[in-house]
Amino acid sequence: MRFPLALSVKIAGHILKHKLRRTPKFALVLQLEPLHTCNLTCTGCGRIREYSTSLKNLVPLEKCLAVADECDAPMVSICGGEPLIYPQIEALVEGLRRQGRIVYICTNGVFMRKKLKDYLAAVHRPEHPADEARLRQLLAEQLIAEADAAIIRRGPEDQRPVIRPSKWLYWNVHVDGLEYTHDLIVEREGVFRECVAAIKLAKRLGYQVATNTTVYRETDVREIEEMFKFFSSLGCDGHTISPGYDYDAAKQDMVKRLGKNPEAFFLTRKMTIEKFAKIEEWGKAFTIFGTPVYQEFLAGKRELTCTAWAIPTYNVQGWKAPCYLMTDTLHSAGHYPTYQEMLTQVDWDRYGVVNGVARDPRCENCMVHCGYDPSGALGTNYQRGDNWKNFKYNFWPRPPAYPADAELTKRVFNGVSIGQGHLAKAKTAAPTSAIPGSNHQGQSSAAALSSSGGARARDLSGTKMAAAKKE
Ligand code: SF4
Ligand code: SF4
Repeated sequence: MRFPLALSVKIAGHILKHKLRRTPKFALVLQLEPLHTCNLTCTGCGRIREYSTSLKNLVPLEKCLAVADECDAPMVSICGGEPLIYPQIEALVEGLRRQGRIVYICTNGVFMRKKLKDYLAAVHRPEHPADEARLRQLLAEQLIAEADAAIIRRGPEDQRPVIRPSKWLYWNVHVDGLEYTHDLIVEREGVFRECVAAIKLAKRLGYQVATNTTVYRETDVREIEEMFKFFSSLGCDGHTISPGYDYDAAKQDMVKRLGKNPEAFFLTRKMTIEKFAKIEEWGKAFTIFGTPVYQEFLAGKRELTCTAWAIPTYNVQGWKAPCYLMTDTLHSAGHYPTYQEMLTQVDWDRYGVVNGVARDPRCENCMVHCGYDPSGALGTNYQRGDNWKNFKYNFWPRPPAYPADAELTKRVFNGVSIGQGHLAKAKTAAPTSAIPGSNHQGQSSAAALSSSGGARARDLSGTKMAAAKKE
């Protein structure tokens, strides 16, 4: 089966329960952001910019569990910020699992191996030959170092819980392309290699792992196909892919401050459809998350109505309205104390695109999964045969893993190793005059990005990508 039976049955049962009760609006996935702190400053990330004044704030553990309980979504995606920085991440995962929820940990991968090693330390039994053999194998594959092995053999340092493999848990690792592109987008060399090592280690230890990719205007979709092949060959259990829609704040900044046309930089609806022309083909070859109905929508074959209330976001300021992307303080309170208040007080008919007309101009180019994927699962724009399509997609066999291929691996690691400076070359190639407001060449790109907001980030990214392609 494409997805574990228990998970598909749980989600189908949740939808059926609410359909029978005629619940008008309910949650399918909670996007829980316990913090917005991050160790990276990725180009195009709106989170660390929109919430730049509350980066140090945390949602207390008890509150995280209470809001999950309140909205009762069967799936919780723990995102951020970087959720592995959250001091009680293990207890949060354990608490959500105790509530019976499917948990996704959306991580940039940098601290993932640390958490996997904590798990190993908790379960390793030095007197067991099989455990020692596993450790030696991980050392041979360079997935852990000798110093790690010594720590693992000593056992856990305290009684804190660890994140254990489970069919109810996925690591969802952010990867936006092959090595060169990914490290450019996340603004740090070596991150792609770390993600690959973390994914390999997680698979060796029996975890489920998915990748999470955003497609930008500069994204070459042939590269995305190579990426799917590679991660499929590593045994990944699925892939989320979504169009990179730029937040309203970034768009306005581009028009007002830079005097530039956002369409020159951001994915419009038309561009999204072009980029996702092969999404259904990818869905057959790889385990792509998202309903086939949503895939048809991305490919431009049908219209869907936004159902952002089905994938609500909770963060340090409350329930974010109307969606993960937009905080609408013009027509709503922006953030609400409870999910029910958000459901009842927001005028949901203001949002989305209907019959080609944007109800709100800020929705015009949005086709992201948090607005439209649930529409496919909920039958919001039902067409004959949709239920069968969704059923078949979920319950039919999973596409086989792509075979390991040394040539493919060479193409995947197309950057340079840590410290060789491909980011430095790209930064030099980006003329400072193209970055209004920047200091001078000595200013670190990460600092420039974090202080300047999304528009300049996209500007710099475009220049960097162009520079990278020329090499
Ligand atoms: S997109 Fe990048 S900067 Fe933003 S939260 Fe994720 S890892 Fe951090
Ligand atoms: S279409 Fe829906 S998900 Fe997209 S920005 Fe508008 S309200 Fe948010």
